[in-house]
Parts: sequence; C-alpha cells; structure tokens
Amino acid sequence: MKILVINCGSSSIKYQFYSLSENRILAKGIVEKIGMKGSFLKHEKESGQKVLFEGEILDHKIGIEYILGVLSSVKHGCIGSLNEINAVGHRVVHGGEEFSESVFITDEVMHALEKFNELAPLHNPPNLKGIYALKSLVPDVPQVAVFDTAFHHTMPQHAFMYAIPHALYKKYGIRRYGFHGTSHKYVSNRACEILGVDPSTVKVITCHLGNGASACAIRNGKSIDTSMGFTPVEGLIMGTRSGDIDMGAVTYIMDKERIGTKSASTLFNKHSGLLGISGISSDSREIRAAADKGDERCLLAVKMFDYRIKKYIGAYAAAMGGLDVLVFTGGIGENSDITRTGVCEGLEFLGIEIDQNLNEGLRGEERIIGKRDSRVKVMVVPTNEELMIAIDTQNIVTELFK
Ligand code: AMP
Repeated sequence: MKILVINCGSSSIKYQFYSLSENRILAKGIVEKIGMKGSFLKHEKESGQKVLFEGEILDHKIGIEYILGVLSSVKHGCIGSLNEINAVGHRVVHGGEEFSESVFITDEVMHALEKFNELAPLHNPPNLKGIYALKSLVPDVPQVAVFDTAFHHTMPQHAFMYAIPHALYKKYGIRRYGFHGTSHKYVSNRACEILGVDPSTVKVITCHLGNGASACAIRNGKSIDTSMGFTPVEGLIMGTRSGDIDMGAVTYIMDKERIGTKSASTLFNKHSGLLGISGISSDSREIRAAADKGDERCLLAVKMFDYRIKKYIGAYAAAMGGLDVLVFTGGIGENSDITRTGVCEGLEFLGIEIDQNLNEGLRGEERIIGKRDSRVKVMVVPTNEELMIAIDTQNIVTELFK
C-alpha cells in the first residue's frame, strides 16, 4: 500500500510518501513560505537526489497541487498516476476529548475537527486546510487523521484536570490534553520491541526533547501523564516556550508591562525558554557552544533545561510506582550526549545509570546507553512520527475496505 503522509503547518507542508509493504520511503519533501514571497517546494527522491521548484504558492491547496504534481511527474516522480496513492495520513495536532485514536476522515469528522480550531489556533486550521485540499484534488483517496493528543486519552481524570472551577472545564474544555503523542507512542513501543518486552508489562518514561519538548509517563503501554497541558506551553523548558511558570508571575508581568493576552502568549511561547534565558538562541547547539566558552546565561539555560527534565522523571517514577525504561528522543534527546548525562546525573537512586562508552558521541541511532546491570534500561530511540502516521493510516484503511 502506498501512503502519503502530510503535515501541514501555518506556512509549510511536510510530506513523505511510503510504500509500507516494501519498507521504502519513495519520496519526501517540504513546501515552505506558503503565501509569502519566495515560496518553494524542496523534493527529495528515494535516491537522495534533490530538486527545488520555486513558484507562487499562495495557499495550502496550491502547495498540495505542487506535491501531487511532483510525485506523479515523469522526470522527478515515483508514480505513474495519482491513482497509485492508496491513502493519505494527516498529522492533526488537536483531537479534543472526542478522538481517542486515529480516524478515517468523513464529512462529520471534518465538522468535528473545526470545533478544535479554537483549542489549537496555530496548528489545527492548517491541518484542516490540507485535508480539504486533498479532498477536492483526489476525492476518491481515503484520508486518515492521526492526532498528537490521542495517545494521552488514557490519562486518568486526576492527572488531566486543573484545580480550577469545574464549570470552566465543562464550558470550555479547559484540561490537560498533552501533545507529541504520536512520538511518545512510537518510541515507547519501539523501545519495548528492541528490549523484547511486552509494553503492557513495563513502566516507561519518554523524553521528547526537541525545539518543543515533553515527557510522558507510560504504564503498561498507556500514557498516564504528560508534561504538556491545555496547550504545548506547559511542562519542560523548550526552545522558545517557558514551560511551567507560576501563573501569578504571568498576571504580574501582564500588569507591569501593560500587555494583553496576545502579547503575553507571544512572550511565553516565542520569547521564553532557552532563548529567553540565554538571550542568544533557541538552538541548544548554539547555547552549548556559548556555555562551553563560559557564557553565564547559557550555562544557566543548560542547567535549568536538564534540571526540569530530571524533576519530571522523578515525578513520573513516583506516579507510576517505579520505572523500567527511560527513552530519549527528539533533536536534543537523540543527539546530545551531554544533555542525556546532565539529566541522568544523580538519578542512580532510581536505578538510572548511563554507560558513557555507549552514550558519548551517539547521535540519531537506536541504542541502549544504560549500564548493563542498571535497574532501568536507558535508551536512545530516534522518533519517527511519519512512519507511525503511515502505519495507523494503513491499518485503518485496510480494516475499512476489507
Ligand atoms: P527538533 O525540534 O526535534 O528538530 O530538535 C531541534 C533541537 O535539536 C535544536 O535545539 C537543536 O539544537 C537540537 N539538535 C539537533 N541536532 C543536534 C546535535 N547534533 N547535537 C545537539 N543538539 C542537536
């Protein structure tokens, strides 16, 4: 089965085209700067050869037309006609309380998704634009939505509720939803596969550390808590997001700086985190480099980043009543041996011990990096959300048309 995986952002569309039965990625690429000057499509063939198409890509529909065009083009494509696309899987950020798993997209599902635009105003509207575009361009191809929130549906109420008047939960759905679910699910399952253990028998903490970052407590294969909340700003320190902060400080800053909700949201989502602390960059590599040269604020940023993750690991071990597997993923988790060391330092009492011979220099590869006899298996597992979306899409479509 050939499956096109689509991830629509506000001004970009990432895609990967899979032949799952053959375990191949036939093509992948990205459309960038949609609706801006200088928009383009960067396409990569299975051979690794790259092509660039510049053009006026005014909206998501035109972006999708470019993608379908290049996939079926004689010169750069990998299919003879669009009929060879068996299904499309979309990354959809918010599935609200309604969608606890991936779903075949019908008109009713699209209506239901419109409701979540308010909950994820930056992400869900472009996700929907991609769905509408494909529906109009290839109406006979089945489409599936795979939600970032779905994996966290198993969180118990005492973990997902905020201690605010219950009426606000009822009226606006104010609760913790969690995000990065597709990644947490993929890496925890993959870790269990590598270890040869049944996910339903172990306690796992996954740390997705990228520009966005979150931790997840997974007991017996189910998410029971995660660090992102109503929005992705809660929890760990991220590239530009503050993570946890006393909301008293938020209202105080708004008062003192005389700013409204929009500016406050920009402040805590776009100017905080590693960028805010360091004053230099949101990119952990640049911060590390400056910290190595003795920059005080970068040193502090690095310490705060590691410390926050360590606290969550302790909290989640307590929430699950133990820990068997700790997994690092995301750009930082997969590539930064120093971060992994900083996070795990002092957690020997929990059974977390890194073997530096296995950890040092490890980038983007699956590996157990814990000491052989340590109680907790510490691992690096590169995330692969696109593959997870392709697999879910294949499963749903196969079930539907069997
Ligand atoms: P992501 O959002 O998952 O793409 O991750 C982005 C983050 O990963 C940035 O902070 C990068 O600095 C970090 N990152 C990417 N490659 C490396 C690397 N080789 N070593 C350290 N950090 C890296």
